[in-house]
Amino acid sequence: MKTRIALIAHDKKKDDMITLAGEYRDFLATCELTATGTTGGRLINELGLAVERKHSGPFGGDLQIGSLLVEGLIDCVIFLRDPMTPQPHEPDINALVRACDVHNVACATNLATAHLVLSQLQTQAKAAAVA
Ligand code: PGA
Repeated sequence: MKTRIALIAHDKKKDDMITLAGEYRDFLATCELTATGTTGGRLINELGLAVERKHSGPFGGDLQIGSLLVEGLIDCVIFLRDPMTPQPHEPDINALVRACDVHNVACATNLATAHLVLSQLQTQAKAAAVA
């Protein structure tokens, strides 16, 4: 079964997301990807990844991803948040991170953790491929 990963980046973190996803592009191409609207658009256009796009975060995209997660349809969330800029949809952001904690879904909210999570998932996928 494909690993199902949700990708979200706030505006000032979107370049970081593209760089990160570019480093794991081959692995991510084997996964089922979901993203908020603008983040997903950039992943599609700049990296050629297949991504199911939800609404933009401020228009409910985080909540849509949270809903999938609660249904058991997301294995991991890469959520590059901007801690320095107030976000109009702060309650939605908190709801998504809370849902990850409630349902014990890995949630990387900064680049360092995102690298650890993606490199581990990539290693697991390689091991499964040769097993
Ligand atoms: P976006 O949404 O990818 O549509 O910008 C992310 C967010 O701001 O929460």
